[in-house]
Amino acid sequence: MRLPGNKILRIRGYALAMIFVGMIIMYLGIFFRETAWLMLIFLIIGIIPILLSFVIYFWIGMISARAVTVECPNCGGYTKILGTVDYCQHCKEPLTLDKDLEGEIFDNDMNVKHRREKIKQELENKKSNE
Ligand SMILES: [Zn+2]
Repeated sequence: MRLPGNKILRIRGYALAMIFVGMIIMYLGIFFRETAWLMLIFLIIGIIPILLSFVIYFWIGMISARAVTVECPNCGGYTKILGTVDYCQHCKEPLTLDKDLEGEIFDNDMNVKHRREKIKQELENKKSNE
């Protein structure tokens, strides 16, 4: 099961995990120190996720500069949200920038424009049937 969470925090978590993966791969290379070329391969493979995580950190820095900061109505804390639908960093309250989606059950589909339009359409149909 995937827990809902703030996107920026989640991407940061992945970047951190990648550093560990890289370190573990490099560490495994030590077991092959008798064979220089094999150890070298482990070191090179281990460096890739570490470099990738630096790229992700850099990218996070850029997107979080653009992200909208909102005040969470639930806990009052400020949180940066990405996309149309995201979760509070502090209390995991679902937050949206789209007024039409307020109070609805959150779905990752809401971050994709054409799927979001479809969801809105369905909501409207439901309301008009009532
Ligand atoms: Zn909150």
